[in-house]
Amino acid sequence: MAGFGFSEPQEMFRRQVRSFVQKEIAPNARIRAKQDSFPPELARRMGEMGLLGINQPEKYGGQPADWVTLGIAVEEVARGDFSLSIVPTLDAGIALAFKLASEDVQAEWLPRLISGEVLGSVATTEPGCGSDVGSLKTRAVREGDHYILNGEKTSITVGMQSEFCIVFAKTDPTQKARGVTAFLVPLNSPGVHRSRLPDMGCKPMGRCSIILDNVKVPLKYRMGGEGKGFYLVMGQFDLIRVNLGLMTLGCAQVSLEDAMKYAQQRTAFGNPLAKYEGISFKIAEDYTRLEAARLLCYRTLWLKDQGQTHTKESAMCKFLGPKVAVQVIHDALLIHGHVGYSEEHALEQRLRDVIGWEMADGTAEVMKIIISRELMGREFLPY
Ligand SMILES: Cc1cc2nc3c(=O)[nH]c(=O)nc-3n(C[C@H](O)[C@H](O)[C@H](O)COP(=O)(O)OP(=O)(O)OC[C@H]3O[C@@H](n4cnc5c(N)ncnc54)[C@H](O)[C@@H]3O)c2cc1C
Repeated sequence: MAGFGFSEPQEMFRRQVRSFVQKEIAPNARIRAKQDSFPPELARRMGEMGLLGINQPEKYGGQPADWVTLGIAVEEVARGDFSLSIVPTLDAGIALAFKLASEDVQAEWLPRLISGEVLGSVATTEPGCGSDVGSLKTRAVREGDHYILNGEKTSITVGMQSEFCIVFAKTDPTQKARGVTAFLVPLNSPGVHRSRLPDMGCKPMGRCSIILDNVKVPLKYRMGGEGKGFYLVMGQFDLIRVNLGLMTLGCAQVSLEDAMKYAQQRTAFGNPLAKYEGISFKIAEDYTRLEAARLLCYRTLWLKDQGQTHTKESAMCKFLGPKVAVQVIHDALLIHGHVGYSEEHALEQRLRDVIGWEMADGTAEVMKIIISRELMGREFLPY
């Protein structure tokens, strides 16, 4: 990123990804949106296009681009298929978390993750706790060179199609967050049972529940130290939060473009809708909101590229991005009148898809807890 714009290589990358998405991702997105899974070859195509290994080690198939470039990839995929943009977003966060694992474990999984051959997922949420992650009940008990995991996880994105999951479990039940450790759990392990959840949006990615019934996990699959993995791995997820913001904004941007075209073509009372300020002002406001939120996201990625702290900014992106996107897509739907309120138009589906990401990876309230903690200090947290 140079100044407030993209550098020439970043612009070139954006054009390449846009053309790939228009040719290979967007055309069947509406059909896939009604299905319970997505074709695995699409993840592999994203891998081949270099969208899954941005800023990852070249020895594992990654490429030496910056985090701003990852944001561009995520935003562009989301323009064509919001659901699919979850793959580069999640992969990037998971790949970073792998830095906590040994070289052997990285070599075992990273090349396959970066090529799109396998998908990973992340499991913190349980039936009894979501925002209050420190209260989770899933147990991990060490027995020699492995751990035994027992518990139930829920709401796991891409859980049905992923090969492995990073599972957060208590190694010390007397502690809250300090008693939580992260483990890589291959989902074909004996004792893992999965069931799909009936979601209102993002159906091809879907969410699932995972029951862990005496699942044996080798010691080498512990991500970070016992009781420390939670903080370490969660730190890597700052990256996911920014990209979740950009996913929703990419989807909203294309919806606003649809609304502008429609407002220029559709006439009412003898004029195109775009001539009425009730419509054009809404478009101007939404464009302004989108642009402000996008700048926040790209600045946050730029901060990460500079090696600067960005926890507060990531939480701001995750709070603001989905909120702006829901409003912009809702407005776009209303500008389309009765046409927008139909399954024949992408807008209703985009609205259903994006709403979920107001909650995923921490609700707006949780993001505000983080922002205010970073601004005023931990001593002003109520817990
Ligand atoms: C589309 C989608 C994808 C998801 N993917 C994953 C995934 O891959 N892995 C995973 O582990 N989880 C996933 N989740 C779960 C998600 O992380 C949780 O929904 C989220 O953390 C909130 O937890 P909860 O739903 O249990 O709500 P709760 O924690 O029960 O909260 C309910 C409401 O109370 C509010 N609230 C809670 N505490 C406070 C407080 N202190 N102050 C003010 N308000 C508060 C919340 O903001 C929320 O509005 C996903 C969820 C969705 C919708």
